[in-house]
Amino acid sequence: MSESSRARAGLATLSPDQTTSRGLAARAVLVYAASLAIWTGAAHVGVSAFRRWVLDDFIWVSSDFVWMTPLGYLMIFVALAIPVALLAALAPRLGDRAGAFVFASLGTLSLLLLFPRIHHLASLVLALGVGARVAAMARSREDERRRVLARVASVLAVLLAVGGGASIGLRAAAGRSGEAGPSVAAGEAPNVLLIILDTVRAASMTFHGYARSTTPSLERRAAEGVVFEHAYTTAPWTLPSHGGMFTGQFPSALSTDWRAPLDGRHPTIAEAFRDRGYRTGGFAANHLYTSWESGLTRGFEHYEDYRRTPKQVLLSTSLTQTWLFWEILQGNSIGARLRALGRMNLRTLTMWRSDRKQATATVDQFLRWQASSGDAPFFAFVNLYDAHLPYDPPAPFDTMFNQGRTPLDRYDGAIAYEDHALDALFDELARRGVLDRTIVVVSSDHGEGFGEHGLSDHGKSLYRTELHVPLFIRYPAQVPGGTRVSTAISLRDVPATLLDLAGQDSEPGTFPGVSLAKLWRNEVTSGSPVVSEVSAGINTAPDEPVTRGAMASVFDATGHYIRNGDGVEELYAYRTDPDELRDRAKLGDGRDTLPAYRAQLGHALGGGSTPRR
Ligand SMILES: [Zn+2]
Repeated sequence: MSESSRARAGLATLSPDQTTSRGLAARAVLVYAASLAIWTGAAHVGVSAFRRWVLDDFIWVSSDFVWMTPLGYLMIFVALAIPVALLAALAPRLGDRAGAFVFASLGTLSLLLLFPRIHHLASLVLALGVGARVAAMARSREDERRRVLARVASVLAVLLAVGGGASIGLRAAAGRSGEAGPSVAAGEAPNVLLIILDTVRAASMTFHGYARSTTPSLERRAAEGVVFEHAYTTAPWTLPSHGGMFTGQFPSALSTDWRAPLDGRHPTIAEAFRDRGYRTGGFAANHLYTSWESGLTRGFEHYEDYRRTPKQVLLSTSLTQTWLFWEILQGNSIGARLRALGRMNLRTLTMWRSDRKQATATVDQFLRWQASSGDAPFFAFVNLYDAHLPYDPPAPFDTMFNQGRTPLDRYDGAIAYEDHALDALFDELARRGVLDRTIVVVSSDHGEGFGEHGLSDHGKSLYRTELHVPLFIRYPAQVPGGTRVSTAISLRDVPATLLDLAGQDSEPGTFPGVSLAKLWRNEVTSGSPVVSEVSAGINTAPDEPVTRGAMASVFDATGHYIRNGDGVEELYAYRTDPDELRDRAKLGDGRDTLPAYRAQLGHALGGGSTPRR
């Protein structure tokens, strides 16, 4: 090795000056990585803000993304900078160049990944090209350009911190500004607690006849109130279903869609209670479709969705939302992880994953709020998400049924875990003397498939596996215990029922629907038409019914009629054929009843309108 090449590689014998210089080299790499992380984070925040507020699109990250996203990049870049800084200490010039290459590539890649239309491998090649170009330009750590980079990054960091703080403050203020209604004195009106077990189908609940003991606690509470044996959701997926429970509207009357939140057209049940002087709080674990972006938060003074955890911060970057990252994270062996690395799948997930909030955490949030928010009655919404894919309940629930071998075993375990968490909630409310003064509604937003009709997951069809949900109401003052209603009912009637039970009048037509209390009081023989709808899906496979276009269905006393997107009709006698195995639309007696079902559906959806695509 010649003297000059030894010097270039930084391998010459060290003088005291050189020792200092090596320390400086290592520090320079760290500063460089941190600066580029802030730059990347700031640009990412700009893209997210544009998508969210200009294009009105879902971005599937915490409303804290303004500070979480740059902080996430900072954590990743600084962690990667440590080995590079060590290299710089040993060989300053090499370290300089390696730093320039790694962090310029990574920053560029992070931003390109935000545009899924650019092929992920093209993004990688482009990013490596940028990195190589920047490395070639990196002449020395004393480079003036680096100082400018770092200075601008400090300014950006301050701006992002101020922006993050302001967004937290604005949200808190928005919650408080809603307290416009007259104050209802404590004891004057009952509390209302709406608990939605996301993705929990009626068929997996003990109180709906399931053989497995998934829900012993809920079964006990259900027996103290009224159980609806045939409750059906208005949509087989989260957002329009919650939208229906909050507004009393069918999906085709709502703005909600796969990439569209609930707009401000219809009043929500939270607004109605808030305007009557109730304290309103929402506690949502489904971050995809019940978060701050969903439009469902309107009317809540207090709303908790994404967690503020290091994991959530890390998940606020594009790098941690690639398939590659998740495949490596979830690989169950070194071989699986290496294979994932070999595939180099850098596509980002369509819907970003988050730090999952388990049932006990959500219940704790609710209980904390309930204890600290004064004497006026409350309206609270609790959404638990443990039974949603991927089914991953904590021990011992993960192996509670059949050692958790199949997806259904783990799903049932997740439901048992939610039951356990809710047991603690009910016990604590009882201890506080609140439970019997509270109208408790427990239901779900949709079911889940486990191979029935060749389908799994939900949002794919309008079969009963996706529509039949658990429902019970407990409120000893007005709900006779041990009651079971077998009439088919729609979750659309939830807001009308809550207002009725709470003794609150509503302007006629504000919340369309029929109070379900009238059913057990024998004042009516049926509620709203039991209609469900789903628009053409995203990310669906060719053999899934919803791929053929928007669908609608209606239940009457004996039949379940489904109209597919391509006009094909199906009819099932669900009381005698609960698994919907025998399509009667093709049989003589069934075929004759189709015109009546078409008319029912048309009437319910406003003069035969077709659901929105
Ligand atoms: Zn859901």
